[in-house]
Amino acid sequence: MIEIKDYCRPKSVEEAYDKLVNVEGAEVIGSGAFMRLSSRKINLAIDLQDTGLNYVKLEDGEIKIGSATPLGSVEKNEIIKEVFDGKLIEVFKAIWSVQLRNIATIGGTIFPKLGFSDLITALLALNTDVVLFNSGRMPLEVFLEEKIRKDILTEIIIKKENRKLSFQYMRNSFYDFSILNVAASVDENEDFRIAIGARPGIAKLTKKAMEYMKNNKDIDKVSEMAADEVEYGSNIKGSKEYRKMIAPVMVRRALEEVLK
Ligand SMILES: Cc1cc2nc3c(=O)[nH]c(=O)nc-3n(C[C@H](O)[C@H](O)[C@H](O)COP(=O)(O)OP(=O)(O)OC[C@H]3O[C@@H](n4cnc5c(N)ncnc54)[C@H](O)[C@@H]3O)c2cc1C
Repeated sequence: MIEIKDYCRPKSVEEAYDKLVNVEGAEVIGSGAFMRLSSRKINLAIDLQDTGLNYVKLEDGEIKIGSATPLGSVEKNEIIKEVFDGKLIEVFKAIWSVQLRNIATIGGTIFPKLGFSDLITALLALNTDVVLFNSGRMPLEVFLEEKIRKDILTEIIIKKENRKLSFQYMRNSFYDFSILNVAASVDENEDFRIAIGARPGIAKLTKKAMEYMKNNKDIDKVSEMAADEVEYGSNIKGSKEYRKMIAPVMVRRALEEVLK
């Protein structure tokens, strides 16, 4: 069981960060939905609810989502409903239940880099940046590779562009984590992005396959290339062999959908 000794609601991100780095055993808390499943002791839980990070807005061709925004608010937002032909909404709707999405936050979903994350895979297939209070702005892809421990995710920024998106997942049942997930997108300049996640490791872009797809629209070959570009492992949800077998099928389905 999780044990929280003290709890605070700072009024600014500066104040929250100051507590995070200066109080031993302090941790940021989103809604606690995932944290509460672990058994650890937290000396100070820093709740970001009062730091002004609950928003979805469009600014200079970019969609900005504050890290304290619940997934459910993003899903109901008119900007999000419209972009990428409504396909991004479908990814949010695929995350467990309405009840969970009404509390789980963007920060708690992106910052811990959970391997099974559906949202991270979809966001990788879009042009997404993350903004961290101390480390600044960087592409999501870079953030996933960096070892950042004490920092606060303040917002994510998705480039609003004319990009078609497809998100595919394989699960044993709807209320389960993905055994494998795939997202693909293409813009009007035929710039393709293909991400494979829940391998069960964190999602990765398949860069060679993406480049090949730009010049050769050979979906079968690219599906195999993309699937071969990442590594797979086994866990309670599925074996390495199973993931490897379904990956090209899922990439093909995603590419076929964005090229329709
Ligand atoms: C039952 C259940 C089912 C789920 N199903 C799915 C699913 O099907 N698909 C899917 O993709 N995801 C799923 N998730 C994950 C979910 O989307 C969220 O990732 C998770 O609930 C965390 O949200 P939270 O806001 O409560 O974060 P918390 O649990 O509060 O925090 C999680 C971690 O993030 C850190 N953190 C939170 N916010 C910040 C921030 N702004 N800056 C820095 N660090 C921060 C915390 O310190 C903690 O380490 C599921 C989670 C649960 C509990």
